Amino acid sequence: MTTTRFAPSPTGYIHIGNLRTALFNWLIARKAGGTFILRIDDTDPERSKEEYVEAIKQDLDWLGLHWDRVERQSERLDRYEEAARTLRDKGRFYEAFETPTELDLKRKKQLNMGKPPVYDRAALALSEEEKAKLRAERGAGVWRFKLRQERIEWADGILGDISIDAASVSDPVLIRADGQMLYTLASVVDDTEMGVTHVVRGSDHVTNTATQIQIIEALGGTSPSFAHHSLLTGPKGEALSKRLGTLSLRDLRAAGVEPFALLSLMARLGSSDPVEIRTDMDALIEGFDLSKFGSAPTKFDERDLYPLTARYLQTLDFADVAGEIAALGVPNALAQRFWAVTRENITTKADLKGWWEMFRDGAEPMIAEEDRAFVAEAMALLPEAPFDGETWGKWTAEVKTATGRKGRGLFMPLRKALTGMERGPEMADVMPLLQVVKARG
Ligand code: GLU
Repeated sequence: MTTTRFAPSPTGYIHIGNLRTALFNWLIARKAGGTFILRIDDTDPERSKEEYVEAIKQDLDWLGLHWDRVERQSERLDRYEEAARTLRDKGRFYEAFETPTELDLKRKKQLNMGKPPVYDRAALALSEEEKAKLRAERGAGVWRFKLRQERIEWADGILGDISIDAASVSDPVLIRADGQMLYTLASVVDDTEMGVTHVVRGSDHVTNTATQIQIIEALGGTSPSFAHHSLLTGPKGEALSKRLGTLSLRDLRAAGVEPFALLSLMARLGSSDPVEIRTDMDALIEGFDLSKFGSAPTKFDERDLYPLTARYLQTLDFADVAGEIAALGVPNALAQRFWAVTRENITTKADLKGWWEMFRDGAEPMIAEEDRAFVAEAMALLPEAPFDGETWGKWTAEVKTATGRKGRGLFMPLRKALTGMERGPEMADVMPLLQVVKARG
């Protein structure tokens, strides 16, 4: 059975890059009628915070990306210990004692000589006595996985055929000197034991995948199929990594972005399919196909989320927003009309407030110098509020007769005087909502 997982580390809020990973994995599982696991990668007790675990769940909930179960790495440490023992027994695990400074020096030397900065495996040559001595001097070492020096190959679901020379990769550290299990091992143990069939993650994990394929093999497991989505960049191709902090799902939500705007964009951006607003999950799931995504960096422009949000809002019925409209203080009798008038004229739901204030308190009039006398004359003909659906037609007909103005020259100054705007909803529909007319003077 198809099983996927989204495996965030709870060290911060999830952002647009994480969403891409979560969404792809969710879509694959749902499309196949499989299982989607939310796995909390919390082996780092210092950086992992419970508040982020909660925040991640809230964000996924908000988007409607529901999980079938939650797994926590911090509760599975014994499983990782056991895997570590297996690797030791198989001679694929060794202790190394270099300090970070020593490793850094080695890397610099290698780079100076034009060589790739790959760990030189000096620790493999240590005798038991030497190790005991180092342990006494420096404390426990780190544990590295001994890669088999051959080409590591897989058919990537997005990148196509990948082949990486293991000799160009350092033996990965799987256990830190303080005993902390690292993600590289923990993830492999989880993926194997939880029957994960598909792993989709960012292309920054390609080298990890190469080493993990060998670790899985060493542990006697079967590799899931891997796919690596391209890096997101800003609209001009600039690195997004530094800005990701401001592109957290919470911030986007606070800015009024609607879940379906985010989902519609991120489920298709970087693929050969066009981005269109979709308003139900089935439509997102149906057209989703990993093989349509390319390996080139994907340009992401957060501004694209706003027209999509606007389009999404246009699809909502009054019943979908009735509660929010009532909460603004819009009287029941006007609420339905209020939505009909505003839905095509808002970018986010937050804009509704401004519209209601304008209707309730009257807009600051916008009157050009040359229209002053005309507007004053028209205002004298305007009946008292409340207005109805006929008011605009009757009033402008009267104004036309009285002033001789017609067409744009008639309507535009009146629209600007009443709404303070040059564009907007049909004035016939606006009038019944307008409680106050400031342009009356
Ligand atoms: N916790 C890892 C990360 O957030 C998970 C990577 C993976 O999907 O294997 O990068």
